[in-house]
Formats: sequence, C-alpha cells, structure tokens
Amino acid sequence: MTQTLDVAIVGAGFSGLYMLHKARGLGLSARVFEAGSSVGGTWYWNRYPGARVDVESHEYSYSFSAELEQEWKWSERYAAQPELLRYLNHVADRFDLRSGIQLDTRVTAATFDETANRWTVTTDKGDRVSARYCVMATGCLSAPKKVDIPGADTFKGEVYNTSSWPEGGVDFRGKRVGIIGTGSSAVQTITQIAPDVGSLHIFQRTPSYSIPAHNGPANPETKQAWLANREANRRAERENPIGMVAAVVSDKMALETPAEERNRVYEDRWAKGGFAIGGAFADMLILKEANDTFVDFIADKVRAVVKDPVTADLLIPKTYPVGSKRICVDTGYFEVFNRDNVKLVDISQTPITVTPKGVKVGDNEYAFDSLIFALGFDAMTGALSKIDIRGRGGETLKDKWHGGPRTYLGLMVAGFPNMFVVTGPGSPSVLSNMVVSIEQHIDWISDCIAAMGQRQMDAIDATPAAEEGWVAHVNEVANMTLYPQASSWYIGANVPGKPRVFMPYPGGVGVYRQLCDDVAAKGYEGFVMSSSAQR
Ligand code: FAD
Ligand code: NAP
Repeated sequence: MTQTLDVAIVGAGFSGLYMLHKARGLGLSARVFEAGSSVGGTWYWNRYPGARVDVESHEYSYSFSAELEQEWKWSERYAAQPELLRYLNHVADRFDLRSGIQLDTRVTAATFDETANRWTVTTDKGDRVSARYCVMATGCLSAPKKVDIPGADTFKGEVYNTSSWPEGGVDFRGKRVGIIGTGSSAVQTITQIAPDVGSLHIFQRTPSYSIPAHNGPANPETKQAWLANREANRRAERENPIGMVAAVVSDKMALETPAEERNRVYEDRWAKGGFAIGGAFADMLILKEANDTFVDFIADKVRAVVKDPVTADLLIPKTYPVGSKRICVDTGYFEVFNRDNVKLVDISQTPITVTPKGVKVGDNEYAFDSLIFALGFDAMTGALSKIDIRGRGGETLKDKWHGGPRTYLGLMVAGFPNMFVVTGPGSPSVLSNMVVSIEQHIDWISDCIAAMGQRQMDAIDATPAAEEGWVAHVNEVANMTLYPQASSWYIGANVPGKPRVFMPYPGGVGVYRQLCDDVAAKGYEGFVMSSSAQR
C-alpha cells in the first residue's frame, strides 16, 4: 500500500529531526526514514573512542528553541559522542518526534512522477511513499569511503572502521593495534587509545594540521554569559563566515602585520583553542605567503612537542596550505608520539598492503591483533549517489552529476522539482559549524514550502540558467582561495574516480544566508513555481 505524505524526509540526524519539527509546525504530514537503528546521524554511527565535536558545544547545538537551550547542560567545552547522541535523543523526545521516524529503513529510490507532481519513495523494507516534497537530510559525511587498500579482507585479526564502530566499544588493552589514516577521526581515536594499547602503529599517508582544543569541563559562567546575550550571539553566529562566534575573523592581513605582532596574534588564538585561530588574519586562505606564516607557526609548535626530530618532521604537513583541508582539533595528539608504545609509519612514498598478519609497507611487515581503518567518507555526494534518484524525464541524479555535483544554492537541482538537499554541494555546509548551516537550510526550505502553499503552487524547480550561474559563482569564489590547492575530500580527491570539483561554497555563512534570503525576497528568483491548474 502506498503511504501519502506532504513531506518525505531521508535521514534522522540534526537535519532530519529539525525538518520533521518544522514540517509539523506547518501542519504538514511528514515522515523520516533512517537507515540507522537510532536517531543521531553522525553521532549515532561514529562511536569510535575519543569522538567529539570540534566546535564548542553551546555553539554546536540547535538555536531554534530558547527553552531547549536553557534546559540542556553540556558537561564539556567540546562534547563527546555519547553526550551528543543523548542530546539528539532528548530533542527527539522533547519535541515528540519519534512517532514520525521510521528507523532501520534505508531509502533505496526516489522517482519524480511528472503527472502527479509527486515523489515516489521506496525503501529496503518494502515501503512505498507518495510525497509532494522530498527532503534529502542524508548527511555530507555519512557514506564511508570504501576500504581501497589491497588485501584488506585477508586480515585474520579484528577489524574496525571508525565510521561504524561497535556499540559496546572495544577493549584494546595490551593489544598490538595498527591504524590507517591520520584525518580527524584517526587523530581522535589515536589520542584516546594510545595509553591503553600494548603497541600502536600509525600509518600516515598525509599529515594533518591539528590545533589544540583545550577541552575541559563546561564553564557555567560561559553558559550564563552566552544565554544572557543569546539572541545577539546567535545572530553573530549566523553572520560569521564559518558560523562560530568563537572564530571571529579579523580584518587584518597577515602580510601587512609585523612578524612579532603576527606571532602574538597566533599565540593568543592558539591559547584560546579550536577554530579561533582560523580567523586570525583575513588573507590566510587567500594568499600562499600569508598562509605560510601560519604553517611556520604550527610547524614550530609540533617541533616543540614531539621529541624525536624525524617523527616531528614527518608530522608537519608540507604539501598543502593550512585550512585547505578541515583542520583537526585535538586533545594531546602530538604528545602521543612521545610514548614508547607508539610508532609513526610514513607511507607517503611506499604503497601498503594488508596481509593476513597485519600491514606490509615495502619489505616490512607489521603484525597486529587489531586493525583500524579511519579512511574517511565519500563526502557530500556519497549518500545521495547510493539512492536511485530520478527527476523529470527519468533523468538520474547520477547522470546529471557525472562531471561533479551541480545545484542552485546547494538547495535544489534543476530537473528534480520539489526535492531539497540539506547542506548540499554548493552551500557552505562542511566549511562551517554545520548546525548553523543546517538550521539555515531547514528554515529556508520550510519558508519556501509555506510560500508555495500561500500562492497555491505545488511545484518548484530551479532553472538551468540559475543553476549554471551558481555553479560558476561557486567555482569562481573557490578559485580565489587556496582551497583547491589541497587534494582533499572537499574536492572529491579522496575517492578514486570521483570527479574533482570543489563542492562546498566558500563565500561564507553570513554572505550565503543573505544571498538565499534575497532570492526568497525576490519571489524565489531563479526558481519556477507552478500549480497543477497552470500545468
Ligand atoms: P547526518 O548526521 O550524517 O545524518 C544523516 C543520516 O541520514 C544518517 O543517519 C544516515 O544513516 C541517514 N541516511 C543517509 N542515506 C540514507 C538513506 N538512503 N536512507 C535512510 N537513511 C539514510 N560538523 C561540525 O560542524 N562540527 C563537528 O565537530 C563535526 N564533527 C564530526 C565528526 C564526525 C566523526 C563526522 C563524520 C562528522 C562531523 N561533522 C561535524 C559533520 C556532521 O556530519 C554534521 O555536523 C551533522 O551532524 C550532520 O547532520 P545531518 O543530519 O545533516 O547528517
Ligand atoms: P579524512 O579526513 O578523509 O581522513 C582519512 C584519512 O585516511 C587520511 O589521512 C587519508 O590519507 C587516509 N587514507 C584514506 N585512504 C587511504 C588509503 N587507501 N591508504 C592510506 N591512507 C588512506 O576522514 P575523517 O578523519 O573521517 O574525517 C572526515 C571529516 O569528518 C573531517 O574532515 C571533519 O569534517 C569530520 N570529522 C570531524 C571530527 C571532529 O573533530 N569533530 C572528527 C572526525 C571527523 P590522505 O590524506 O593521504 O588521503
């Protein structure tokens, strides 16, 4: 039997939960389909040891309910995964969302029916849904990258992936452990398990820039001050380029600042911790020479911590500008390399294979009891490409995006009417505090659906010209920055065969919000709305 809905929502992370709440607020029938066994999205799946947020907890939280914000008490400055998962479960209960969420259900296909002007959504549990609107709240980092290391399935010991960690946790005490990858997930895992394991070998292809979080118990005074000025703080967050008040972006230029003063600014922001340092100077992500001043500062910090100079040198990135990949925020990462039970293995020049015993690098074989893959994600497009999405004329999203994703504002795809993508390619998304970007998208989508109702319209599609213009604008802005200089997942470089296109919009959260609001104020410029009567 076909269920009829106003809105079908795919995914029950931060995006899907808020979308359900908003849709209900508009008086619409809505249902969320979630592949996982719990709500939480990222914070349900990524249960690896040490997983925690890299944005301060009070900023990485919903702003839509002042009461929720008053009630919820974060225990740490940067909340760990169990607390984030509790928070999202609390939100599901507090706003009575569970009755609208179907867990353990993967959406397999979504097809636009041009005659009925509705989406037919089907799932692996045999559901068939007819929905006026389809909201893809599928996540930017929810499709793990395939393990692409030869021999990976031959290993006889225990194998773990950071992106689908066992629910009960893993006891590594006394074990010989190998971990492949040194991105954010690995940095957090390594730091957490190093004191427990018998031995830890870290296989590094590319080192990461990492800055200290200075995590600790949440300061009640910080919360009080934040709440006393809540409206202004949240407004500042929405206008900030990366959606974080803690990361105020200076208008000073690194290259116009004397070296001594520049270093003092870096030191001050380093002492604050986290992404604060990313906004130290306005030219850091624009001019290579400005970026180099920050690279030199970080290199000195690494050398000051890591006692073995060869290891320290291997840990200092040399092939890409700082910030052109998402910076890691750590709690004692570089200190780990001073431990006797930890060894860094450079695999930048020598390909590796997994063997039944462990990992082989050239002629050296390392034997392990447990192997951890922390290899990252098929980011931004991976979850969508796993769904058979067909728009007008039966065109598949896969075909449309064969040369890289194309959207208008990162919100809609021309030829796929009434389908919205939350924090999709072409929006600030992963370059920001994502909860801020998620709320902005859901608010915009909800306002758009409400506006359609008021105008008695039931279809909206982006025009090909508006999409073309937006894709060109995203590329133009990206090319003004240092972002494209890194072989990063932002550009699809981490997945073999993926087209290399810079996916997020680097124009800044505040600027982007204004652009989206202007589009709506101009009667949804670049979109065509229609009603069945007109058609
Ligand atoms: P997700 O949380 O990814 O939820 C999407 C959900 O959709 C998933 O549960 C998935 O199972 C489901 N889904 C996908 N496809 C289907 C389908 N076909 N059928 C049914 N269900 C489907 N961002 C920050 O700003 N700060 C951070 O500190 C930060 N830390 C992170 C740490 C990790 C380990 C990772 C992986 C990401 C992190 N991110 C961070 C990004 C994070 O993904 C976002 O902050 C945010 O949680 C995304 O919420 P979402 O609801 O959009 O997507
Ligand atoms: P990632 O940043 O893509 O890191 C993957 C790591 O695996 C890289 O070091 C990569 O090396 C390595 N790798 C991949 N394939 C390999 C191969 N075949 N052989 C050897 N090494 C290989 O993934 P991630 O660490 O999961 O992080 C992804 C994003 O999620 C982050 O950038 C961040 O946005 C978010 N995140 C945030 C936090 C947080 O602090 N809150 C924590 C985790 C994740 P190369 O660089 O050489 O490809």
